[in-house]
Amino acid sequence: MLGPPGSGKGTRAHIISELYDLPVITTGDMLRTAVAEGTECGKIAKSYMDKGELVPDDIVNGVVRERFQKPDVEDGFILDGFPRSKGQADALDQILEDNNIELTHVILVVLDDKVIVERLSKRRSCPKCGEIYHLESKPPKKQGVCDVCGAALIQRDDDKPDVIKHRLEVYAEQTKPLIKKYRDQGLILETSGVIPMDQLRDHLKELLG
Ligand code: AMP
Repeated sequence: MLGPPGSGKGTRAHIISELYDLPVITTGDMLRTAVAEGTECGKIAKSYMDKGELVPDDIVNGVVRERFQKPDVEDGFILDGFPRSKGQADALDQILEDNNIELTHVILVVLDDKVIVERLSKRRSCPKCGEIYHLESKPPKKQGVCDVCGAALIQRDDDKPDVIKHRLEVYAEQTKPLIKKYRDQGLILETSGVIPMDQLRDHLKELLG
């Protein structure tokens, strides 16, 4: 899944995972878990994540490489939020080659920066189960409480306006150039980030054939 922060990569990855019974490898979640557990990687990652910067390639590549040791990737997987830089794309090429895996699609989610800022600043997340809400389009039933697990909802530090703007700059500088690489390989499938939730499943089914 490729696309700016807040474009809906996670939502789409989740639906595709259900449609095709594939595990989702979400680097953002893996890094947040490392931060919560207070591991060495987590401590380093936190300082970058709080500022909306990319966590250094060697850490992220290491986390992803380790994830590929698990047997559940054997029949396919969805990468959500990785690669995000040239160094990561090179590492992914190497991981795929080492594991004799072929990349079949790169789904590019396209969304306007203005919509992203609006969407992310009203996003609330459950720190316990990962469920995502939006104050207007998907509010929790009870204000501030997760519908799924009852935990108190939070606004991620990096979903605050200044940090969002910086994340968009980082995306434009470091991640956007990857679009050309995957377009040249004929792998890009483009999808809009504003498709209504109730149409998303059918849309993705059609997109992936
Ligand atoms: P996300 O939940 O995908 O928006 O990621 C949240 C934050 O985690 C990003 O702003 C980065 O600081 C960090 N992060 C997630 N994935 C990566 C990655 N592939 N490379 C570097 N940093 C990442």
